[in-house]
Amino acid sequence: MRDAGTKLLLHACCGPCSAGCLGGLEEEGIKPDLFWYNPNIHPWTEYRSRRDCLEGLAGRKNLKLLKIDEYGLRLFLGGLGAGGGNGAKAGRCGYCYRLRLEKTAETARREGYDCFSTTLLISPYQRHDDIKKTGEELAARYGVPFFYRDFRPLFRGGQKTAREQGFYMQKYCGCIFSEEERYAP
Ligand code: SF4
Repeated sequence: MRDAGTKLLLHACCGPCSAGCLGGLEEEGIKPDLFWYNPNIHPWTEYRSRRDCLEGLAGRKNLKLLKIDEYGLRLFLGGLGAGGGNGAKAGRCGYCYRLRLEKTAETARREGYDCFSTTLLISPYQRHDDIKKTGEELAARYGVPFFYRDFRPLFRGGQKTAREQGFYMQKYCGCIFSEEERYAP
């Protein structure tokens, strides 16, 4: 168990994934602050639904929620053109992890957190090892430790809790490409 006073900034991609991670952290006696920065979520109505769901969860759990509340369609697509693989999954997901984790590391350093992490570590659908590697690289660059946990065993339980509690449940990963992959025939 970690020191219950660990000041952790937890990047949060959505309410359901956050619920699972928070359960695991509670068992370790850690109450993180949440951080919303997700320029990868499109379109706008989807962005709003996920953001509002997370705000509700933070309120109910009495957790501090830091937000960079900027809908990032243009930023995200522009960055892809500059090295994110032009929409191909291999390039774009790496770019997407780095974009969000870098802002989290930067914010953690500026605001005096002990460490940072991300709820992306709970998803069995993400490239877990890439997320870990990116977090560790950014930790070295920003001088703030990456708080790594394999939260994946908590995924199903977190989703179940989220459903029972009436959370907004997304149907695709986030970006406009993943929406197409989910729905296009
Ligand atoms: S599929 Fe998911 S992780 Fe990959 S770029 Fe899109 S939103 Fe990001």
